[in-house]
Amino acid sequence: MTANLYDLKYEELSKLLVELKQPAFRAKQIWQGMYQNLWTDLADFSNLPLSLRDQISNQFNLGGLIVEKQLSSTDGQTQKFLYRLEDGAAIETVLMAYRDRNTVCISSQVGCAMGCKFCATGNMGFIRNLTSGEIVEQVIKSAAILLSKENKLTNVVFMGMGEPFHNYPVVREAIAILNDPDGFGMGKRRFTISTVGIVPGIKKLTEEKSQVNLAISLHAADDQLRSKIVPINTKYNISALMGACDSYLKTNGRRITIEWALIDGVNDTVEQARKLIDLIKGKLFHVNLIQLNPVDHYSGKPALDQSARKFQKSIEAAGIPCTIRLRRGIDIQAGCGQLASNTN
Ligand code: SAH
Ligand code: SF4
Repeated sequence: MTANLYDLKYEELSKLLVELKQPAFRAKQIWQGMYQNLWTDLADFSNLPLSLRDQISNQFNLGGLIVEKQLSSTDGQTQKFLYRLEDGAAIETVLMAYRDRNTVCISSQVGCAMGCKFCATGNMGFIRNLTSGEIVEQVIKSAAILLSKENKLTNVVFMGMGEPFHNYPVVREAIAILNDPDGFGMGKRRFTISTVGIVPGIKKLTEEKSQVNLAISLHAADDQLRSKIVPINTKYNISALMGACDSYLKTNGRRITIEWALIDGVNDTVEQARKLIDLIKGKLFHVNLIQLNPVDHYSGKPALDQSARKFQKSIEAAGIPCTIRLRRGIDIQAGCGQLASNTN
């Protein structure tokens, strides 16, 4: 079996080329081909002698994500990719165009062990962690698509399948590879890790003084309700979670996003809004609301437009910035894990 070039850090690539008795500049040429020209096929590497290309192809591959399905939303602004991995598992990547930015939403695991009630990925259970190469390749493939339209990828969010803090060393490695200024050069501040609230993960991000953005999938503001829809809350409850957020804010000083999927009659109430305000008022938070994407296995319905707006207004009235996220690509099952869960 060949090894995935996207798994390698620059130092590792250099070392391998030394072993192949190649001059030092070859590593740089390959790195530039991969991360600046965004060539996604070894045959594209016209900057290398044919003999070296053959030698490399014998030992390495340039990723293994195969497009199994590709869907575009009716407005053309959202593209969803279902990728088949080498071992047959499937993951999703969603590319979203906005007026001022292009964001890719990537997966960190196949499935997820957290079992949030309203989540299609959670319903699959945990299958496996992705490798750093599989994470990097999702980003590069998306950037290459944009580049072919003379456009640029600006943001990467870990909001696809999986819980990034359950695969954190690999997620961190992928970010480091993509951050390399001599390669892809994407700034740390352009990444966002979204977590269900894994307290040790938030602590690591804090200790590292990481510039990576943090989003917390809160969805409920008291333990009784949250434990019902987000089961991991029984391990890391709201007070532990808020404590970890406080330390992060104190050390990193970067605004935290609270994610909240509004479910009709469940967490879209005046009472929940009031409790949420009590938790975060006066601190550096932003609230991002989304009306639930309906999923087959969960009976909850999306909150009505009017209750979503009312919820938003009461958060804003407390001086907390609050946006309602468009349900991007709802016509193409672009909710987290919805397409892949039908496939895996
Ligand atoms: N595991 C991480 C990141 C992946 S989920 C996390 O939970 O944060 C990305 C976001 O999609 C989370 O905020 C999650 O709660 C939300 N989500 C999952 N299922 C959803 C659904 N059916 N409708 C709306 N948002 C959903
Ligand atoms: Fe996992 Fe996030 Fe889905 Fe919860 S919402 S099951 S943590 S992917």
